[in-house]
Amino acid sequence: MAIRLDGKQLAAELEARLRSCIAARLPTVGRAPGLAVLRVGDDPASGVYVANKEKACARVGITSLGSHLPAETSPAAVLAAIRDLNADPACDGILLQLPLPAGLEEGPLLAAIDPDKDADGLHTLNLGRLLKGEPGPRSCTPAGVMALLARHGVELSGRRAVVVGRSILVGQPMALMLQAADATVSVAHSRTADLASLTRSADVLVVAAGRPRLIGAAHVKAGAVVVDVGIHRTETGLCGDVRQEEVDPLAAAISPVPGGVGPMTVTMLLVNTVVAWCNRHGLAHGLDDLIP
Ligand code: NAD
Repeated sequence: MAIRLDGKQLAAELEARLRSCIAARLPTVGRAPGLAVLRVGDDPASGVYVANKEKACARVGITSLGSHLPAETSPAAVLAAIRDLNADPACDGILLQLPLPAGLEEGPLLAAIDPDKDADGLHTLNLGRLLKGEPGPRSCTPAGVMALLARHGVELSGRRAVVVGRSILVGQPMALMLQAADATVSVAHSRTADLASLTRSADVLVVAAGRPRLIGAAHVKAGAVVVDVGIHRTETGLCGDVRQEEVDPLAAAISPVPGGVGPMTVTMLLVNTVVAWCNRHGLAHGLDDLIP
């Protein structure tokens, strides 16, 4: 049986750390950190995600400044809402919840977010900072994976890592972070020939393909560490991109779905917000180990 990479447990530990980080600095700063989750339209899954993020903010002492705009809001009005948040001194982090309703192009809106308030770490400038190893808000899901690996003492230096998926949201920043930690990284995608022979070479395998139960026993080397980023709602419940029941007996460690990467993604959003709040007030944050 593989060790569980328990994201729910680690998220709770990190929330406690963030809570005390905020509490210690609050008298100096005079206001709590603020995170604005901007939602446009009524995508039902987004409603649940936004509510989870706001609850997590409340648990650590971050003020939620979000607003919910109607689906028919014009691009200019969404842009104006983003510019208002950029200028708002009480706002340290901004997140534009995706997907947007038809008719709103996400590219120009994401680009309008002040890079230093980019709680999702997906602004072009911040992806560039990651590429160059400069500090900045990091993409939440891969940063959460790095924290999970670090917490369980998974050695990365000199080891072979394979990332399945090359999205800007997960796969690409994941590969950069593993490389920055001195792993030797390969990235697989939908056109990769013989996926199983590549993934079997991995000491650390991160799967973010968005394909339910893609990866089975034949894809995994005995003793590998497997991180399952996928999350899918099926008739029989939630599943990931990994056939957990097949891989669990041969892996050294595996992240469960749910309770693995998912909770870590939300926690890293809070980390980015608290770091931005400290930076804006010239205070040390002591969270460098969480910025891969
Ligand atoms: P995406 O669809 O944007 O990208 C998927 C990537 O996987 C693509 O690069 C594609 O080339 C590759 N791919 C698809 N099929 C493949 C195959 N058969 N073999 C090899 N590569 C293949 O998805 P994404 O946004 O990167 O998300 C990936 C998964 O992670 C989804 O299931 C998503 O729901 C999940 N996710 C979870 C969290 C979380 O917090 N747990 C956060 C973000 C995404």
